[in-house]
Amino acid sequence: MMTEVTPQPSWGSREALAGRLAAVRASIAEAAVDANRDPAELTLVAVTKFHDVDIIDALYELGVRDFGENRHPESRYKAARLREIAGDDGRMHFIGQLQRNKARQVGRYADVIESIDRVELVDALSTLQREDGRQVDVTIQLSLDGDTARGGVLLEEAPDLARRILDTDTLRLRGVMAVAPIDADPDKAFATVRETSETIRSFAPDATWCSMGMTHDFRSAISQGATHLRIGTAITGMRPTAP
Ligand SMILES: *Cc1c(COP(=O)(O)O)cnc(C)c1O
Repeated sequence: MMTEVTPQPSWGSREALAGRLAAVRASIAEAAVDANRDPAELTLVAVTKFHDVDIIDALYELGVRDFGENRHPESRYKAARLREIAGDDGRMHFIGQLQRNKARQVGRYADVIESIDRVELVDALSTLQREDGRQVDVTIQLSLDGDTARGGVLLEEAPDLARRILDTDTLRLRGVMAVAPIDADPDKAFATVRETSETIRSFAPDATWCSMGMTHDFRSAISQGATHLRIGTAITGMRPTAP
């Protein structure tokens, strides 16, 4: 007798995915209340990197509208899938390190590029031409450990980079993004992000986003003023190894 074997997706069953997402949403709401904040101020960006493209469908059905991907071209085909099912009602955030020669390609399909960390990326994107004629929302990635090889601009250089972004017609500066260093106290690390955010907001009032907080530190990020949480494994389960 032949039996159909349906391969299990990398994130497990739909029920398991729904259960993890619900638990994450509940923790976010709880952390917001603890921090005296309105949970409605917080945007959950579900990080789907390395998983099959149909995780986009599954999470969209569960109400997720913001997705995070860190590598081109994986991010391109997932963005295309999101556009297909969601139209304008879904946003793809590019959150990975970006090479100059790929910046314009990513700029054509990403709704948000969170990892702008040097002038050469701003220059490459300043002549971007999108089919939809829209500006790309961007955040400046801050380096909290001073090791810019791992991504991020030094804190003291962030205001100048912000001014460069404001000078372009193609990019819309929305705020800052950061990853807490592994060994650091996350509360302190995220407080630094908020201070730099305030400096930038003094001359760029629309740059209100603070994208910070991942699976292991999103509660701390919420207590320190995060507006966008980039959460992967707590929602998707373990990531498969890079495809
Ligand atoms: C992978 C990734 C995340 C999500 O990490 P988790 O620990 O799985 O929540 C968030 N931000 C960036 C920049 C990432 O690369």
